[in-house]
Amino acid sequence: MFGLPDYHVHTFRCGHAGGHSRDFVRTAIERGLSEMAFTDHIPLYFLPERERDPKLAMREDQFDGYLEEVESLRREFAGAIPLRLGLEADYAEGHEETLSRWLARADWDLVLGSVHWVAGDWIDAPGSAARFEKEGTENLYTEYYRLLSKAAATGLFDVLTHFDLPKKHGHRPTRILDRAEDEAIAAAKRAGCAVEISSAGLRKPVGELYPEPRLIRKLVAADVPLTFSSDSHAPAEVGWGFVTTRAVARECGVSNFVTFQRRRQLAHHLGDAASDSPRA
Ligand SMILES: [Zn+2]
Ligand SMILES: [Zn+2]
Repeated sequence: MFGLPDYHVHTFRCGHAGGHSRDFVRTAIERGLSEMAFTDHIPLYFLPERERDPKLAMREDQFDGYLEEVESLRREFAGAIPLRLGLEADYAEGHEETLSRWLARADWDLVLGSVHWVAGDWIDAPGSAARFEKEGTENLYTEYYRLLSKAAATGLFDVLTHFDLPKKHGHRPTRILDRAEDEAIAAAKRAGCAVEISSAGLRKPVGELYPEPRLIRKLVAADVPLTFSSDSHAPAEVGWGFVTTRAVARECGVSNFVTFQRRRQLAHHLGDAASDSPRA
C-alpha cells in the first residue's frame, strides 16, 4: 500500500474467488494502493474441454464478459485509481501457439505467467503432497524451474508469478537447487520479464512471501524487475500483508519496482521508510 500497486487480483469467474469485482477496487482505494490490475485465470486452454474444472479458471464463454467488466470498472473508477487489464496465464509446454492466440484477443496492460501444471498435473493442489512423496521433491522443483525458465523465454509474459510455488504446502528440497533457480532468474533477466513479490504465500501453509527472501536477494542481485501483488481471491485480500511485504522487500535490497501500461514497463522508486505517507 501507500503507493504500491497490486498486480494480481481475481474475480468470481475463476470459480474459487468470491465477492463483487467492484469491492476489490474499493479495497485498493481504501488501502491507498497506487493502482490495481485484474488478472483473472485464463481458461484452461491446454486441457481437453471435459477436463477443464470450472472451479480452477474462467470458462471460455466468460472471457468477453471479463474484458467488458474490467473496462466498465476502469471508467467507473477513473480519477480514483488506475485499473489495469491483466490476465494470469498458465504456461503449458507445447501449447505456446494456442496461448499466443488467446493473448491476441485483448489489449492487455500486463500478462502474468504462471506455472501450475508440472509433469502432467497441478503442482499446488491441496492433494499434491502424494506427488512430492512419489515423484520426489527435488525432481518436481527442478522440473518446475525448468518450465518457469521456458515460460520466461517465450516472451509471452510480463511478470512471473509465485516464483517458488512448489513450497506452498511446505514441501522443500533437502538442498538448495541453485542451478535450477539461477537458470530461471537468468531467463527472466534475458527476457526482461518481471517477477512478483507476493503476499499470498503468507496466507498459505508455508507462511512466507513468494518468493522467499533468499530468492528476492538473488533477483535483486541479477537486476530482475520486481512488482507487488497479493493474488487476491476476495476483496479483503487486496493489498493484504503489504506492510510486511514492503518491509521484507526493503530488507532484501529492493529499491525499485515496475508497473505496466499496455505491456510497457515503467520503473518506480520504492522509497525509504521515512518517505511513507501518513496513510500508512
Ligand atoms: Zn486462483
Ligand atoms: Zn492468481
